[in-house]
Amino acid sequence: MPELPEVETFKRYLDSTSLHQRITGVDVRDAYVLKRVSVRQLARRLKGRRFENSYRHGKHLFVRTSDDPPSPRLRRANLWLRLHFGMTGWLQYLKRDEKTPNSARVLFGFANNRRLAFDDQRKLGEVELIKNVDEFLQRCGIGPDALDVGLSEFKTIFRTHRGTVKAIFLKQQLIAGIGNLYADEILFRARMHPATEGARLSDKDLARLFRTMRYVLERAIALKTDFNRLPKSWLLTHREKGGRCPRCGRALKSATIGGRTSWFCAHCQKRI
Ligand SMILES: [Zn+2]
Repeated sequence: MPELPEVETFKRYLDSTSLHQRITGVDVRDAYVLKRVSVRQLARRLKGRRFENSYRHGKHLFVRTSDDPPSPRLRRANLWLRLHFGMTGWLQYLKRDEKTPNSARVLFGFANNRRLAFDDQRKLGEVELIKNVDEFLQRCGIGPDALDVGLSEFKTIFRTHRGTVKAIFLKQQLIAGIGNLYADEILFRARMHPATEGARLSDKDLARLFRTMRYVLERAIALKTDFNRLPKSWLLTHREKGGRCPRCGRALKSATIGGRTSWFCAHCQKRI
């Protein structure tokens, strides 16, 4: 499931392939992923525009479209394309005549005959047009992005909310961008049991957790979230049945914490 590092990687990919080209058409292969916009509206409103730049917040990617070329008849409003990648979403920039993947749900066609495919096997992703990013984030109650949160804000979040550290990380309303896999990784590297109550953490614990969060997210982005390049010392490459702790070699445990299956090492990660 795409989390902050994956969506940041998609953002950089989109920025390096799909900006500043005139959109000539939008081909919707499966309208299930469209939210509050029809197939016709999506195509009509994007045609003639360009993707100008993009902005990521948590697991959402927002792509600002240009007003250019301005229509002589109507002034076009501010328009952003919002993408959420659900469980299996990703982006693929297709060459001329490249075969359309079966799980491509929406294809944005450009004047150079290339296409950007929003690919999503399980169709839990979302494609929407919005006018204002801040208003969208506010309406959905999405909290600050995990890489934008400062240390003091981070401490306040954990001190003022009840629940386990795992549950607090997963709540997008508190900190946006972290999902099940990276929450487990952060807690493993910070040597904290996922069921530790957030309110029990000391100033020092919180500072360690904050540093570790930033380290894990930034390192994963730097490696373009390529699973094969992630360090073997990370939990992520071992979190499965029969998996062993890369630190002490003992069998990893799993339990439902914060509503999701958490993997951890009961020896290395202590409850505080
Ligand atoms: Zn261990």
